[in-house]
Amino acid sequence: MSKVLVVEDEQHLAEGLRFNLEDEGYRVQVVETGEAALELLRAQPSGFDLVILDVMLPGKDGFAVMSELRGEGQFVPTLMLTARGHPEDVLKGFAAGADDYLTKPFELAILIARLRGLLRRREWLRASLDASPRAPVTEAPPADEFQFGDKTVNFDRLELHVRDQVFPLTLMEANVLRYLIQHEGTPVSRKKMLEEVWGLHEDTDTRAIDNFMVRLRRYIEDDPSHPRHLLTVRGVGYRFIAEPQANLS
Ligand code: CA
Repeated sequence: MSKVLVVEDEQHLAEGLRFNLEDEGYRVQVVETGEAALELLRAQPSGFDLVILDVMLPGKDGFAVMSELRGEGQFVPTLMLTARGHPEDVLKGFAAGADDYLTKPFELAILIARLRGLLRRREWLRASLDASPRAPVTEAPPADEFQFGDKTVNFDRLELHVRDQVFPLTLMEANVLRYLIQHEGTPVSRKKMLEEVWGLHEDTDTRAIDNFMVRLRRYIEDDPSHPRHLLTVRGVGYRFIAEPQANLS
């Protein structure tokens, strides 16, 4: 039975979520503040399969909670609840490390579908990690990987391998990387990325995407302040280079 942590200070909504999620077969715990959520997840790092995290909370908001968790290496799949009319919140959420988001008010059926999507991915990851070499998971597709320099992105496992280090990626980080890789060598505009990766068509402050890129550079660049793979194209956006030419300093 999957355990869901609901972080929401509006009691009416939190209890509604509990009731309906329990009805769907989930075990649910509700906390009302970001501080309580952090405390709980630190005490039980594998205690939950999913987190539903509201942005608007008293004290620490959802963004702060998200980035603290990810900064501590806690990668429990997290769906953020953002306010309608604040499309920049979506980007802020993804930049902080959220895996998915829903805009309030939302339909319960959609929330459940999103949660199932996040859980399926997690289950698949577990299955592929547990599979012994003697019993290959025959139905598993070939590894979905991309290699550049001494780095390999594994899109199935949401991991970036750098030499002997492994960095977990959020779903959205992997999606952005995939998009950049698909357009390797070509400048892609911030607007296009917002539309095609985030599905945002509203007037979003495209500068918000830059914070996200800072985060990606920390993973994929040896020296994030002198990027060689993820380049800024002035006045346009970004360009991904898989194999930068040597000796350019
Ligand atoms: Ca709230």
